[in-house]
Amino acid sequence: RKRDNVDVEKLEEAVRELDTKASYTSFSDLPLSAPTAEGLKSAHFSSLTDIQAKAIPLALKGSDILGAAKTGSGKTLAFLIPVLENLYRAQCIGPDAGLGAIIISPTRELAIQIFEVLRKIGGKGHLFAAGLIIGGKGLREERDALARMNIVVCTPGRILQHLSQTSSFNVDNLRMLVLDEADRIMDMGFKKDVDAIIEYLPPDRQTLLFSATQTKRVSDLSRLALKEPEYISVHEAA
Ligand code: ADP
Ligand code: MG
Repeated sequence: RKRDNVDVEKLEEAVRELDTKASYTSFSDLPLSAPTAEGLKSAHFSSLTDIQAKAIPLALKGSDILGAAKTGSGKTLAFLIPVLENLYRAQCIGPDAGLGAIIISPTRELAIQIFEVLRKIGGKGHLFAAGLIIGGKGLREERDALARMNIVVCTPGRILQHLSQTSSFNVDNLRMLVLDEADRIMDMGFKKDVDAIIEYLPPDRQTLLFSATQTKRVSDLSRLALKEPEYISVHEAA
């Protein structure tokens, strides 16, 4: 525990000193906790993709992000690494820390994919509890599991159902909200659900919004969900 505190203080300082205008190319250039660094290594991730290089330093420093980059550009790690790291540095990981991050995905399949990447890079070293809330299990079973989670990956309808129906579902400690595939979230008609979810969440959270395309609907959503976001858009090289 004491060692943890020393590590966290050092990391905090390194993150404060991180230059968001520099172009980092490798994960090992970033101030990441040992468990995340090892998780990335064991999954054979070493160089940053463009969207990761632009988004991760800003997100580590706490900015809200509106990120657009085409499918396949590596958006998942661009939000999962900041989620893990920001919760770790805030010491919001562990059985008593409560729910620290909600990651919303438009479909169950995509939520499962995100969850698998989270397990791959964070599952061994970090002591967080993460879970999927995508329906398919009983509400009660999900509710009991939710009470122990630090990070939840979910679909909009199902998490809203818990927020509105489970009086014991506490989101007071929530620090981060991620909206992945925001364009699809909007195309699939989830705007009302997401608006309602946001109403339940602490306003001082950090929000990361990613999408493959920049549409009017995405900017409508971002106006509601984000505070003074950094706009990051990665285009294909001509
Ligand atoms: P997106 O969400 O932008 O569609 P993903 O996060 O699903 O993209 O990543 C697409 C693919 O690229 C995945 O197979 C993933 O494992 C791989 N990938 C992501 N980041 C890196 C990286 N830094 N180095 C190597 N491969 C990566
Ligand atoms: Mg994706």
